[in-house]
Amino acid sequence: MDFRLTAEDEAFLSELRTFFDEELPAEWQRVDDKYGFGTAEAFAMSREFSRRLATRGWLAMAWPKEYGGLGATYMQQMLFNEEVAYRRVPGAFSMGVAWVGPALIHLGTEEQKQEYLPRITGADDVWCTLYSEPGAGSDLAALQTRAVLDGDEWVINGQKIWTSGAHHSNKGWLAARTDPGAPKHRGISMFILDDMRAPGITIQPLINMANDHSFNQVFFEDVRISKKSLVGELNRGWYHLALSLDFERSSIAGASNARRMFEDLIEDAREHRPELARRPEVRARLAEAAIEIEVGRMLSYRVVSMQMRGLVPNHEASAAKLYSTELAQRVALIGVQLLGLYGPLEGASAHHRIGGRMAYNYLATVSATIAGGTSEIQRGIVAMRGLGLPRG
Ligand SMILES: Cc1cc2nc3c(=O)[nH]c(=O)nc-3n(C[C@H](O)[C@H](O)[C@H](O)COP(=O)(O)OP(=O)(O)OC[C@H]3O[C@@H](n4cnc5c(N)ncnc54)[C@H](O)[C@@H]3O)c2cc1C
Repeated sequence: MDFRLTAEDEAFLSELRTFFDEELPAEWQRVDDKYGFGTAEAFAMSREFSRRLATRGWLAMAWPKEYGGLGATYMQQMLFNEEVAYRRVPGAFSMGVAWVGPALIHLGTEEQKQEYLPRITGADDVWCTLYSEPGAGSDLAALQTRAVLDGDEWVINGQKIWTSGAHHSNKGWLAARTDPGAPKHRGISMFILDDMRAPGITIQPLINMANDHSFNQVFFEDVRISKKSLVGELNRGWYHLALSLDFERSSIAGASNARRMFEDLIEDAREHRPELARRPEVRARLAEAAIEIEVGRMLSYRVVSMQMRGLVPNHEASAAKLYSTELAQRVALIGVQLLGLYGPLEGASAHHRIGGRMAYNYLATVSATIAGGTSEIQRGIVAMRGLGLPRG
């Protein structure tokens, strides 16, 4: 396999790096959560930098040019994701860009495309994703939130949970049941919520284990939305959901995040703790982690190389997601342990090391093994589709 980048990709990477060197203030390179939803300060930085990325066309770089993208390749999108995760660039990821826009490009009416796509590429709207419910996560097709047509409006009733960023969002991407009599996969439809502050919508915070308010519960009580809010075909929402998968499925951001944490740790060990860095068991553990980071990276590159060849990664994407998210947890654990009594100190402490990032990531990296499909679900996919084992 040839790992060299094309001249075009090299040029793109160099342009990206120059831009970040010049435009990204050092004090902004500390937003660890992907969307910046966790704190008001992180969110403000994310919004501001999203707009700057939008002016370069990088926010939605993989979208076709006619919809405001650059028509970038899978490889370029992955290089971008790798670089922004490594540098902890705020505002580089958004759900509007990742899956709402692509779904609208494929399924939306002309009117929906005209109305929403430019606002997504311009970073004008913030979207949240309303899929999961208390009784529907891994088994998403079990969702119960109802949408009933009443004249020219859909009336929504039900409850969503784990809705990341609902408290910061003005738009919602909703999966709701439109035919309760049909088999569960065939009675779901997709909707746009034009106003997350509309009457009947109640958003309640959920505080995660890292003490951030990043996700929420969202309640719908007779919420009325226009008939035109339906996206795609009625009752085909389940299949539309599958189609609106993230364009770039390599999970490189997880491996890249682990690499950055690891490099911070190595630098700290070299500079401040040489006596520790000489101990054989510490060196062995760090060497092991260095190898695992390369493995994680390669699993991600495999996904992209398949996509570049027109193949659709399946268990390969699951393996990359599973490995990179668990890797980030392992590296954070090594970090907390190597820092000894400093390990659990957060950034607010006067005695913190490495910005308190190991302590934060030790807590924050747990959620990535749940969000977007749990590790157990990913292992099930690898076992069934990758290894050909029978359904469990
Ligand atoms: C940080 C974070 C952000 C999120 N953001 C959003 C969001 O913005 N919008 C949204 O809609 N949802 C969001 N989610 C929800 C996420 O998609 C679900 O948490 C996830 O799909 C798991 O569903 P669940 O929590 O209902 O757990 P369950 O599905 O109830 O799973 C419970 C446990 O059982 C295991 N399990 C379940 N089924 C199987 C099986 N078939 N085989 C083996 N083990 C199984 C799981 O692995 C898990 O350990 C977010 C979650 C997190 C952690």
